[in-house]
Amino acid sequence: MAIDTDKIIQAVMQGSRIREEKGIIPLFGVYLSMISVQYYNKISFGFENMADNRKNAEKLLVDAGQECGYTTFYGIKNSWEWQEVVMPMIETVEDQIHCFVSIAIAFGWGDLMVHEVVPGEKLVIRANDSYEAKGYVDAYGQADAGKCYMLRGVTAGLMDLLYGGGYPESCFEYAAMETQCQAKGDPYCEFIARKAVK
Ligand SMILES: [Zn+2]
Repeated sequence: MAIDTDKIIQAVMQGSRIREEKGIIPLFGVYLSMISVQYYNKISFGFENMADNRKNAEKLLVDAGQECGYTTFYGIKNSWEWQEVVMPMIETVEDQIHCFVSIAIAFGWGDLMVHEVVPGEKLVIRANDSYEAKGYVDAYGQADAGKCYMLRGVTAGLMDLLYGGGYPESCFEYAAMETQCQAKGDPYCEFIARKAVK
């Protein structure tokens, strides 16, 4: 069966209307909240700008995105909504990546597309309208390197979840690079995850 991405996006959008009294959205087995991208970017890039060692700050932000993607999608994969809505469409492990990406689009993480999957070896995701790229340019002007730390980490986190040794030990078995980024004037952002070199 082909993956009906519209059906998945619609399920997330409909479910996200339900809020607990504190504004938390219980959906797909995880707790979500709405957050302003300007606020997120201000904290994230502000942290990087204030750090003595910007490379270390970048690594921490990418690692946070990776752990977030890994644990969030683990929860999603074990939810009743996944069983009901998504499972009937899935025939292969790789199908799951397309479903994860549809959910990420519905979360507002960007206009994402799975460009290439080599099972167990490589995942290439391309993005338009990444809020980190746009937010960086709006605040600081054109960047000289990729700035989409969250999506970069998430790309590797999806590989950890699907091809790693098993939850919760397999986080960081893969690592991703951002090879193109709209923040530095490229036509799209591109993330490539491969086995981490340890
Ligand atoms: Zn980017």
